[in-house]
Amino acid sequence: MVSPARPAVPISGYRSKMSKIVTESKLTCPVCGHWQMETMPTDACQWFYQCVGCHTLLRPKPGDCCVFCSYGSVSCPPVQLETERQGNSAVRHQP
Ligand SMILES: [Zn+2]
Repeated sequence: MVSPARPAVPISGYRSKMSKIVTESKLTCPVCGHWQMETMPTDACQWFYQCVGCHTLLRPKPGDCCVFCSYGSVSCPPVQLETERQGNSAVRHQP
């Protein structure tokens, strides 16, 4: 028996910034267009999501880390953290 699920990826240093992270995402199914608000796990990436409309098992697109990055309105917590970190380190001074 082969399990398609990958082991959860722990996120180090995440909890201290949790207040800035959005954990609710609007997941839109690419097959039937049904959308649903879902709460993202804050300590792991979610690889699979079954659409409640058409019951299609969604998987992340190539290059995306989880279904929320591919189909959600908000990137997953790890990506939000990374984006925030890059944004802070790349502050540009406008003339
Ligand atoms: Zn669907």
